[in-house]
Amino acid sequence: MSDSIKQIEDTIIARERVSTESVAWLFSEGSDEDLRSLSSLARRHYHTDGVASYLKMAIVNYTNICVAKCDYCSFYRLPHEDGTYLLNQNQVFAKINELVSFGGTLVGFNGGFHPKLTILDYAKLFKAIHLEYPSLKFYEMTVAEFMFTCKLSKVSYEEGAKILKDHGTEWITGGGAEILVDSFRLRHSPGKYKVEDYYAAQKAILDQGLGSTATMVIGFDESTSERLEHLERLRRFQDENQNRLASFLCWTYKPFGNALGGKEISTREYLRWLAICRIYLDNFVHIRTSVLTKNERALEALLWGANDFDLPTEDEVTQKAGATISHAFDSVLNHAEKIGIKAVYRKPFDTRVRPILSWQPLSDSTISS
Ligand code: SF4
Repeated sequence: MSDSIKQIEDTIIARERVSTESVAWLFSEGSDEDLRSLSSLARRHYHTDGVASYLKMAIVNYTNICVAKCDYCSFYRLPHEDGTYLLNQNQVFAKINELVSFGGTLVGFNGGFHPKLTILDYAKLFKAIHLEYPSLKFYEMTVAEFMFTCKLSKVSYEEGAKILKDHGTEWITGGGAEILVDSFRLRHSPGKYKVEDYYAAQKAILDQGLGSTATMVIGFDESTSERLEHLERLRRFQDENQNRLASFLCWTYKPFGNALGGKEISTREYLRWLAICRIYLDNFVHIRTSVLTKNERALEALLWGANDFDLPTEDEVTQKAGATISHAFDSVLNHAEKIGIKAVYRKPFDTRVRPILSWQPLSDSTISS
């Protein structure tokens, strides 16, 4: 073992914070075995070796109408184009019923920047859904959609989050983050948001007592330093906000059917990056791997620092870009067993119970359950 690897290992064992410079070096110079074993070491602070959790969920895309025009998106249609849709309540219910038939317990919603849907329109739809499905949990909107509709509705993020909360919303997700660096945003989605604004919305959501999550997408044309900047800012935000983001999920860009195109990154690169995320994001208990974009190969990441995954039943956004979704759930789960992981079905996270950090990294932020 080299001195540098030993130093990182000692840092993790001592429960100290690994620096950005160290993970940059590790990602570029560390062997696969180094990354795998160091991320497993970091995982062990929170989770038992050989055990992971999962749930079944659907992502319901209630509209494909969007005016943001991100060049990496294969899903959206401009309002005047052919092929646009906006699902009505019954059509949304039909999609949720399908998830229920698969035994799923969580529904995420993801549409686009619809130029006419106000925050109240969303809140009313979500309220009707809660009443119809009291036993399910919902991830209602992404932070990016929330930002857009708040602006359209001329309400602050604080007011927008309160409107949703008053209608029964419990969760928003950190979706629409891709790479949270302004240089990336400028290249690919200049109309979407500025990074500081994204975090202002996240903070307003958390401060209203709603749950939220962190996400990242890799494999566009981003540089390693842009990826690291994303992690650096996210770790700081999590410190500043008492570790309230419930989980971190990283998935991979699918290059088909959009203006940006390109080539999909390898599973090996995905695994190496997830290992870096586990080592660096010491203030996240749950690091999730993406079956949606990497299918059963995503489960390898459970040996590279990840501890949780979902089995998706549908998501048009990634399917349009080339993702394939299998409903042969047993075969995916068998793969977990094959690689020595016992996958345990879990309930959706509860916003009232924060993940407990069993050890405290360098920051002096604390968490209460
Ligand atoms: S990624 Fe989202 S915000 Fe961007 S164009 Fe697609 S639907 Fe719209």
